Amino acid sequence: MSAMNGRRRILLIEDEPHIALGLKDALEFEGFAAQVAARGQEGISAFRAERPDCVILDITLPDMNGYKVCEELRRLDAHVPIIMLTARSQESDKIRGLDAGADDYVTKPFSVNELVARIRAIFRRAARSVGAPEVFRLGEAEVNLTTQTITRKGKSEPLSFYETELLRLLHGKAGAPVSREEILTRVWGLDASPTNRTVDNFVVKLRKKIEDTPDRPAHILTVYGTGYKLAP
Ligand code: CA
Repeated sequence: MSAMNGRRRILLIEDEPHIALGLKDALEFEGFAAQVAARGQEGISAFRAERPDCVILDITLPDMNGYKVCEELRRLDAHVPIIMLTARSQESDKIRGLDAGADDYVTKPFSVNELVARIRAIFRRAARSVGAPEVFRLGEAEVNLTTQTITRKGKSEPLSFYETELLRLLHGKAGAPVSREEILTRVWGLDASPTNRTVDNFVVKLRKKIEDTPDRPAHILTVYGTGYKLAP
């Protein structure tokens, strides 16, 4: 992330001008610097040149699909928060986005205010994470919240922004259950919606990095009807 006193820079990769410009205006009104790229390749080049603090990425672009763009961005930067915009509401598309390395997705038509709230929450937390390295173990895995990495069986993998924040929240609760609503509010900065499956999809993905058998997790446990907890 860029200097604390500089304006946070957001890259919008979106080909629909009314969405791109509406969002750009809203972000600049909030005090962020926003740059628009209307094509996937242009977005990747802009990312390389500018190293923005956050990316908002549309799935359907004229020259390449957004999943592919997302994978390219992840190769360039393992940690930058990426929010995908999707016109589709199918869970499979959202999971595909998360698998490509996105942190979050917003389904069109979306509320600009809601998206801006999510971005504000990202930067609030990014500004706070300074100080001593925060490291803890989950079974065979060592989680380092400061470097945003997980090391397991001698292999290090980067954790995305939201993965790091979710682990920080669960770890801070020391084995007590945390509701989906609290996770959405604290990690994503959202007003909780009971039908929102964001958290569940996200946990499925995170378990693959942490668990020996992700289908039968030993560390990130589901609390039925509530949410999740870390095994004590
Ligand atoms: Ca589009």
